[in-house]
Amino acid sequence: MSETPNYIGFEEYSEHVPPGIPLAVQQATTRFVSGRAARVSELPHWEELRQIGSDIRLHTIENMDVYLTRLEEKILATGGHVHWAETAEDANRIVLQIAREHNVKTAVKSKSMATEEIGLNHALERAGIQAIETDLGEYIIQLAGTGPSHIIVPAVHLKKEDVADIFSEKLDLDAPSDPVELARIAREVLRERFLDAEMGISGGNFLIAETGTLVMVTNEGNGRMVTTLPDLHVAVVGIDKVIPDWESLTVFLKLLARSATGQKLSTYTQFITGPRRENGEFGPKEFHLVLLDNGRSNVLKDPVGREVFKCIRCGACANVCPVYKNVGGFAYGWFISGPIGAILSPQMLGTQAARELPYASTLCGACAEVCPVKIPIPTILRHLRRRVAQGDEVEAATLPVPLRATAGLAALALSQNWLYRFGTRLLPALMSFFKRGNWISKAPYPLSRWTKARPLPPFTADFRAWWRKEHSKDEKDPTQ
Ligand code: SF4
Repeated sequence: MSETPNYIGFEEYSEHVPPGIPLAVQQATTRFVSGRAARVSELPHWEELRQIGSDIRLHTIENMDVYLTRLEEKILATGGHVHWAETAEDANRIVLQIAREHNVKTAVKSKSMATEEIGLNHALERAGIQAIETDLGEYIIQLAGTGPSHIIVPAVHLKKEDVADIFSEKLDLDAPSDPVELARIAREVLRERFLDAEMGISGGNFLIAETGTLVMVTNEGNGRMVTTLPDLHVAVVGIDKVIPDWESLTVFLKLLARSATGQKLSTYTQFITGPRRENGEFGPKEFHLVLLDNGRSNVLKDPVGREVFKCIRCGACANVCPVYKNVGGFAYGWFISGPIGAILSPQMLGTQAARELPYASTLCGACAEVCPVKIPIPTILRHLRRRVAQGDEVEAATLPVPLRATAGLAALALSQNWLYRFGTRLLPALMSFFKRGNWISKAPYPLSRWTKARPLPPFTADFRAWWRKEHSKDEKDPTQ
């Protein structure tokens, strides 16, 4: 068997991308896909559960103002503080202000995509506050100086040998490429940090409006330490994470762990309702929730696009996506990758910044089939493609003029038989000027934007010629 299964053209690509990245991603995602399938098959009512999850999320999206108001009331009643952050800058400013008021020098963090979104670590660093990631994957990528490449497994692109190299270099020791030993090293370094830190920063998987409870679903004990050891706990959570009540949570907990890691339930499910009680022994003395909008309210106005907020961040769509599995998470250009990133980033950042992402899909539909809350990802991708090309009530068209002209030419060629035939003969001839071996590694603009990152397979035959060849084979084969 080949050492690089399912990775066509790996040798050719290896000149352009670090060779280990796609293979490491493919191995990990394949494990998650089979784990998910096994756990899902144990639940006979899985489809009904997905529908209920989808209905609850849609209902919450449509009534978000009501649930957020209820959430705030409940948190205030427990003695917690609630801050509304309209933008990423507002959120960073609020966290910094809280940190300064408490004379914070060191903060420990649990895994949080919301703080990745706002770039909180950099903001803290600039203010002279050391922010230390304590989730193992996040800690590794923090040491490596990169971002996450998967929603739930941030360092999925790295092999154990890579992690050993990073630890050896950054922690100044001789780390072996043994996962158990690497985890032990991280635990030892981080334990001291938990005890030193004046502030714990977390994200949150859900916010229960009924009681004002923050829910954290994790597989490492670090989340508990971050939210209980320091006297100050600040949670930064997107407004889309609110859910109505505890009954809804039971549905999402069943859907989340099975879809994410193929577990029945994650190792830790933590519920935080306000700060430590007056006579309580554990927990922070102060609890602050920063509710992050950062463009979400605008997305809510789009009846098609807003279904993106049904997402419970399980990562299952990335694990089955043929595009994600071959390009890895960094190609998506923002903190959130995979099919969910392809529909979230263009809506949150605007298509001017992320207009390529709706096109980074084969529209095979695998993502929608596995999504535990039935987000119609291919439908939203097509909706966003239309927005990019033609504009809509949310945004004007952002497709650059050369690409619009190319699309116009393609439409003309596909509608005129003679022009189509002429083009399919001309293209291979033109491409032969740039071909080196079996690939084109340097193409003129606009294709150069592709070949800067990886080689392009040349166009070799038109569909009609291929069809004629296949058809004549069928006719000759008496068994067909
Ligand atoms: S879009 Fe669906 S499958 Fe993808 S991360 Fe969100 S909930 Fe999971």
